[in-house]
Amino acid sequence: MLLCNSHYAQELADIAIVNAKILDGTGNPWFRGDIIIHNGKIREILPVGKGSATRIIDAKGLIVTPGFIDVHTHFDGNEFKNPGAGNYIYDGVTTILVGNCGSSRVNIKNYLTQLDSLQLAINVGTLMGHSTLRRNVVGTHANRAPTEAEMVKMEQMLERAMRDGAFGLSTGLIYIPGTYAKTDEVVRLAKVSASFDGVYATHMRDEADSVLAAIREAIQIGRESGARVQLSHLKASGHNNWGKAEKILELISDARAEGIEVVVDSHPYIAGSTHLSTLLPPESLTDGKDSILARLRNPKSRAALKKYLLADLNKKKLKNFDYAVVASFDPEPAMIGKSIVEINKQRGRKSNAENEAETILELMETGVVNNNNFGGEMIYYTISEDDLQTILKYPHNICISDAGIRLHGGKELLHPRAYGSNARVLGRYVRELKIITLEDAVRRMTSLPAQQFQIENKGQLRPGFDADVLVFDPDKITDKATFESPYQYSEGIQYVLVNGKVVLDNGEHTGTRPGKTIRKK
Ligand SMILES: [Zn+2]
Repeated sequence: MLLCNSHYAQELADIAIVNAKILDGTGNPWFRGDIIIHNGKIREILPVGKGSATRIIDAKGLIVTPGFIDVHTHFDGNEFKNPGAGNYIYDGVTTILVGNCGSSRVNIKNYLTQLDSLQLAINVGTLMGHSTLRRNVVGTHANRAPTEAEMVKMEQMLERAMRDGAFGLSTGLIYIPGTYAKTDEVVRLAKVSASFDGVYATHMRDEADSVLAAIREAIQIGRESGARVQLSHLKASGHNNWGKAEKILELISDARAEGIEVVVDSHPYIAGSTHLSTLLPPESLTDGKDSILARLRNPKSRAALKKYLLADLNKKKLKNFDYAVVASFDPEPAMIGKSIVEINKQRGRKSNAENEAETILELMETGVVNNNNFGGEMIYYTISEDDLQTILKYPHNICISDAGIRLHGGKELLHPRAYGSNARVLGRYVRELKIITLEDAVRRMTSLPAQQFQIENKGQLRPGFDADVLVFDPDKITDKATFESPYQYSEGIQYVLVNGKVVLDNGEHTGTRPGKTIRKK
């Protein structure tokens, strides 16, 4: 009672993580200490043995890091159905940014307010999507430049989104309608993002044969707009482009030397996942469902599409379409998990590329559900392990999932990246293959994304920062999700704290949902 000097008057903290080997997220080597957490924040970091609190978590033999920040995820509505976000929590992700690849909600303010009332287990922020702007102002199927009035309208909508807390602009320049935009349109919008210190994150115009030209375009957009550039899910896609990773990174290093802030991200898998329709030329997908079906059914245009598919296969130096596997296909769920080669055989046709191209067109035809949904989702095995490792090793590469919150135990053949991206980097590429150090991998999951996207008070273990904290064993952390069996939580993380609350407690999800929406300041 007599010891009421200022130090002793401090309220007993909520949680102390003691005996920790601390990796603070900056890339510095670990140091020992006790982390004191109170009211959702890191209150202080004390020498070992000095920490006390209502709850003590003994981290002896384990490491403690900031929660992982996944800046490349997608809005798909599952956040409303599975607010516990298990696929991310077990993989150590405590914050995600949605709205990538050009698609976001139109009204950012309403979206964030909705999420606020929902209370997720993880923190969520968003980008504003360029395709979303274009769809709303110019129209989904308008393959033309916007009028000046439309351009100004898009700028105003983006400005509004930035004021409402969006972290920047995203584009999806291979998707409709983003692909209809020329570079100058994107520059004008990226300037708006830059005026709020926002980022320009891009799913580039091409990730295959013209990937280098696409990177040059993204760099030009950064140069002319002044926005920081984020090259999303960087890869050299297609067998004929294998080996281009070095050249890709050279372009990026040159841009940085010139003073343009370019950072990249990637996930650690040799397959990507996107729509079936990306196999077809964009001009065949214009003007909505009826026009697309008419093109698919007209013998002349169908023959031209088949020719295109075969020429593409030839260019990839492949003999068949077994690199393309159905991930989801609403009209015929039995197709899930089968490659185009298998589906073709199942349809009683001889195995050859021409018949397989016909099978793809049939799937497109049954799959065109409405104006925004052209066929199913696919998994494409198009990335080489060598390129993947070259890009993973690049120090300015952020680790991402390119996924979203998932409904655990669903029926689609999910890409395992939704469950295991971070654990896979830490298990396979840090511990087993030793191509990245643990300190550096953690930096690229924490402080690097926080810096690039200007996410305040996250990404480092520092007094005053949000208490998004992980405790795990670097010798045990392992991804379990595979392409064959994707609904598997990662293993090896013992504790996940989000805003100072324990969400993963000794390896078990507590059901607590302390996530908050985050806004660009
Ligand atoms: Zn994308």
